[in-house]
Amino acid sequence: MAGRNHLYVPGPTNIPDEVLSAMHVPSEDHRSPIFPELFKPLLEDLKKVFKTETGHSFIFPATGTAGWEIALTNTLSPGDKVLIYRFGQFSHLWAAMAKRLDFEVIVIERPWGEGIPLDDLEARLKEDGKHEIKAILATHNETATGVTSDIGGVRKAMDAAGHPALLFVDGVSSIASIDFRMDEWGVDGAISGSQKGFMLPAGAALVAFSQKAIAACDTAQSRRAFLDLKDQLASNKDGYTPYTPSIPMLYGLRKALDLLLEEGLENVYARHYRLAEGTRKAIAAWGLELCAKPGFESNTVSAVVVPAGKDARDVIATAYSKYNISLGAGLNEVAGKVFRIGHVGDMNDVSMLGAIAGVEMALLDNGFDIKAGSGVAAAIEYYRTTA
Ligand SMILES: *Cc1c(COP(=O)(O)O)cnc(C)c1O
Repeated sequence: MAGRNHLYVPGPTNIPDEVLSAMHVPSEDHRSPIFPELFKPLLEDLKKVFKTETGHSFIFPATGTAGWEIALTNTLSPGDKVLIYRFGQFSHLWAAMAKRLDFEVIVIERPWGEGIPLDDLEARLKEDGKHEIKAILATHNETATGVTSDIGGVRKAMDAAGHPALLFVDGVSSIASIDFRMDEWGVDGAISGSQKGFMLPAGAALVAFSQKAIAACDTAQSRRAFLDLKDQLASNKDGYTPYTPSIPMLYGLRKALDLLLEEGLENVYARHYRLAEGTRKAIAAWGLELCAKPGFESNTVSAVVVPAGKDARDVIATAYSKYNISLGAGLNEVAGKVFRIGHVGDMNDVSMLGAIAGVEMALLDNGFDIKAGSGVAAAIEYYRTTA
């Protein structure tokens, strides 16, 4: 099919041309005397995106999933209790990983479409007077359902309960696109990956840990080798890595960080709100609903529920085969019930309108009872009239 595929999945996201160009580099000696000139500022600038001054940032040749494992195995011992709310495929997978790694996982089920219930968390932590729970695993942006939880509120609930657990946050689809404040929210482990807000190919786990989490490495008994933070710390101190880094990834990250910091993080967050809000106007104009319950709407992905009798997979299939646009599928419990429009990364008003127009055509083709042009019109009106 002529023309490019229009990628509106919530990851991997579109890679800006400048980033692609920056990655087109010959191989380089990663033990050279000048390598630290590339590497050290990357760690410093990553800290700006995570909003931490007191923590340490790390770049692992891995993906976001490894970030979960890095947090768990470097700071905890087998049998330690961890608490997680499960309300989508990613919180589900993180809980499942923690079980496989032999932690005692308290999984609290929530409806898919809701996020972390702060009152419930506070109550549970107050009940845990002996402080047996060693870590809270919080999924900031549940990409499967388009749900954002209030991490500042999680910190408040922990403080209100006077609970000393570590706070680990999956920010794979929020960091670098939705407001995130590691130090202010007392996050002990912030986990992200390269292929969402950072606008890079998959292949880097971008993580940051607090001093408290780093100190926990000394007593944590979980087995770890490749993902050991101490190996990274020992090499990173001099601007090197414990094993061969992906040089193109590092140059791409340099450019991506430059783009994010030049735009300004607050502007990046505002742009994602705008992209999301235009999308939400279109969804409302179609008479469709978000999977996310009010107050939990994500600014990086909208999961749209299809009415009973319809299969969201048909919409995705038509969109792909007829219009060359890629939408996110419903995962696990919401398979066939939702399709997802990603609005994360290198996007602007008109790229969003492309997504909305493509979805609208696919909905009409599949017999959805919507008015042709209604979603596009609602989004156009919002984008035109909103500064
Ligand atoms: C994409 C994603 C992950 C998984 O990241 P991989 O890079 O595929 O390992 C984890 N958590 C969330 C919330 C995600 O969106």
